[in-house]
Amino acid sequence: MPELPEVEVTRRGLAPRLAGRIISAVEVREARLRWPISAEVLRLAGRTVKAVRRRGKYLLVDCGDGHLILHLGMSGSLRVLDLGTPAGKHDHFDLVLGDRLLRLRDPRRFGSVIWAPGDVKDHKLLAHLGVEPLSRALDAARLHALTRGHRTAIKLFLMDARRIVGVGNIYASESLFRAGIDPRMAAGRLSKEQARKLSAAIKHTLLKAIRAGGSTLRDFVGADGNPGYFQQRYWVYDRAGKPCRRCGTAIKRIVQGQRSTFFCPACQKRST
Ligand SMILES: [Zn+2]
Repeated sequence: MPELPEVEVTRRGLAPRLAGRIISAVEVREARLRWPISAEVLRLAGRTVKAVRRRGKYLLVDCGDGHLILHLGMSGSLRVLDLGTPAGKHDHFDLVLGDRLLRLRDPRRFGSVIWAPGDVKDHKLLAHLGVEPLSRALDAARLHALTRGHRTAIKLFLMDARRIVGVGNIYASESLFRAGIDPRMAAGRLSKEQARKLSAAIKHTLLKAIRAGGSTLRDFVGADGNPGYFQQRYWVYDRAGKPCRRCGTAIKRIVQGQRSTFFCPACQKRST
C-alpha cells in the first residue's frame, strides 16, 4: 500500500510535469473506484493546473476554483505519459494535458478521483486529518501536547490519522526504534525528552524513505515510470527474530490493533 513517502515522491514527480498545463480532456474508462468518479470530473477540461500539493496521503491537484483529490488506495499508481500511450486493463483514468497525460492505474480499485470545489481544507476527507508529520507544526512541544491524556499505546497513537497524518505501520515501528521508545508505552506517558526524540525520529524516518524513492511492499510506480521503491534497510520492521542492528538482541514481533509491531526489547524502553 502506498504510504506517505510514496505519495510525496509521486507529488514531487508530478508537480513540475503538470503545473501550468491546461487540462484538455478527461478520460474515464472505469468510474467504479472506491467512490464512483463523478460527472463533474469529466467537465474539468479548460482549467489550468496551478500546483500539485499533498495532505496526508491525498494528492491535491489545484485547478484554481477547486481541487482534484487523488488517492492511490491499496494498489494505485500515477504516471505521466505521452498522449496516445495505449491504456492497459487497470488504467482507469486519464487527465489529458496537451501532449501528455496523467494516468491512474489501480488494479484493486480502492483509489479515488474526486472533484472538490472551493476550499479543499474543508472537504470531508481532509477536515479531520491531524498534523502533517513533515511540517514544522509537528515539533517536540506539539507532540508532547497532543499525547497528553491518551492511554492508547504510542505506536497506535502515531498511526491515528486524526492525530498525526500519514505515519503508517512501517514508519511508526522504525521511528519508535530510533527514538528508543517501547511501542506499548501509553502515549500520555511520553516525556518531553521522548517527544523531542520521537518527533525528530518521525521526520528522519519519513525523509529517509522519500530520499530512497519511497518504500512500499508492491505496486508503486513512480511518476517517471520507474519502480518507485528501492529496498530499504530497516532497523526493526519485518525483522522478527533477527539480531538488533544496534545491540544484537532478537527483534520481537507483537500485534497491536491487528497490525504487526517490531521492536528491540533492549533498545526500546517504556521510560527514559
Ligand atoms: Zn537493540
